[in-house]
Amino acid sequence: MTSPLSSVRTEQVQQYIGGQRVAASGGETFETVNPANNRPITTVPAGDERDIDRAVAAAKEAFDKGPWRKMKVAERVEILERIADGILEHAEELARLETLDTGLPIKQTRGQIRRAGQNFRFFADMARHHLTGETYPVDGTFLNYTVRRPVGVAGLITPWNTPFMLSTWKLAPCLAAGNTCVLKPAEWSPLTIDRFTRIVEEAGLPPGVFNVVHGYGETAGAALVRHPDVQLISFTGETRTGMEIMRNGADTLKRFSMELGGKSPVIVFEDADLDRALDAAVFGVYSLNGERCTAGSRLFLQESIYEPFVEKLKERVRRIRVGDPFDERTELGPLIHREHLKRVRGYLETAREEGAEIAVGGGTPAGLEEGNYLEATLILGVRNEMRVAQEEIFGPVLTVIPFREEEEVIRKANDVIYGLAAYVWTENLERAHNVAQSIESGMVWINSQNVRDLRTPFGGSKYSGIGREGGTHSFEFFTEVQTVHVALGKHAIPRFGAE
Ligand code: NAD
Repeated sequence: MTSPLSSVRTEQVQQYIGGQRVAASGGETFETVNPANNRPITTVPAGDERDIDRAVAAAKEAFDKGPWRKMKVAERVEILERIADGILEHAEELARLETLDTGLPIKQTRGQIRRAGQNFRFFADMARHHLTGETYPVDGTFLNYTVRRPVGVAGLITPWNTPFMLSTWKLAPCLAAGNTCVLKPAEWSPLTIDRFTRIVEEAGLPPGVFNVVHGYGETAGAALVRHPDVQLISFTGETRTGMEIMRNGADTLKRFSMELGGKSPVIVFEDADLDRALDAAVFGVYSLNGERCTAGSRLFLQESIYEPFVEKLKERVRRIRVGDPFDERTELGPLIHREHLKRVRGYLETAREEGAEIAVGGGTPAGLEEGNYLEATLILGVRNEMRVAQEEIFGPVLTVIPFREEEEVIRKANDVIYGLAAYVWTENLERAHNVAQSIESGMVWINSQNVRDLRTPFGGSKYSGIGREGGTHSFEFFTEVQTVHVALGKHAIPRFGAE
């Protein structure tokens, strides 16, 4: 299969350190491949500890000497808004690069890039109003106040799923708060952030404020986590990696934000608007190629509606259009990498071994053997204790489990290590809120698919993470609160050693 690749130009990916595009210190590179045909796209510098040292030094110098953190907020905001403009101006090119790199359908990457631009605008706007402290009215002879100050050099480590949009969730508040940073993008999806370095330059971001080191997690990523001059790590990725990062960052007492894996339930009660629930359930797990942390990958259906709902579901899943991610009609593109496809397929094997039934999909669509394609897959006959119902598959795979009553479905929904998102479908207001209160997850959507309001906190509980991203929560993470106590008079001070 051929994609209209000629319509997007890629260039040699480079590190971006102190405002310079440079190769890796050791001169080593690795190759990335197009998920749609497994042909090489480009080579990427394999940065290591030396590159991290250089990038952190550049970020530290930019932080210590300025002008970034000392700029008036209005000036900083202006630069961030120019970055937002740059993203939106080059949105089509960025969307194409993202599709080429990740296999996400072009229609969906366009939406993601738009959101990336909006993220910059949103946090720029927030910086104007929310980077404030508190004052405590004079108490006796004291005036106390707090200020929110930038933390210093931030380490940002990002995954390959919707890589550009997710990077901007970190970058925009991090920079808006006056920090400098080093970003370590995922190995499999370096293109958009590389293009972004040009946008940042054109917007007038001072050199050293934003640095990028490409490379493997175990080398470049680990060196960033261990670096003593890095104050905090904002990480999005797998739970196991998050644990490793926390261990490695313990010796330098880092502050962590952890956005990790999920296995989110979609609970549909018999009184729900079933047509809308069906649309949302299908979209929630098969959009973004199923490579989505908040994917509603476990569908719980009340017994009375199980049969008719599943019949309609099968029909819809069969009709999902799998194909060239550059085709405007494509709904499901190739998975990011051969290795990842193998892992997802492994779960289908496991499902069969455990006695579940692959009711729809599971195979390679005809004519698409060159790429990492998998048909939209539906698994029935699933019990909650099966691995496919417990572990994050991170692909276009949905498991369905029937339930009788509310208490039972809450127990089953909570019986996983994850606690990122949940979706509840019912017309009964009381039940909707009761279920939301009983579900162990950072986010619950009621009668809705995953719709994001940037002001609200995003993140998970249990093994899905620590901390929240969004709105003021992001600023809390990326700033340090300092309390200042001012004596307004000559209060009594104990005179040790005076007589
Ligand atoms: P991953 O954990 O394999 O890699 C993420 C990043 O960590 C990459 O940049 C990688 O190079 C780096 N890394 C790996 N080992 C490291 C180490 N020892 N030290 C420092 N850095 C290291 O994750 P992935 O496969 O790229 O992404 C998919 C995962 O991300 C899924 O589990 C998904 O649920 C999760 N995710 C969570 C959210 C959320 O908001 N909760 C959002 C998107 C993705």
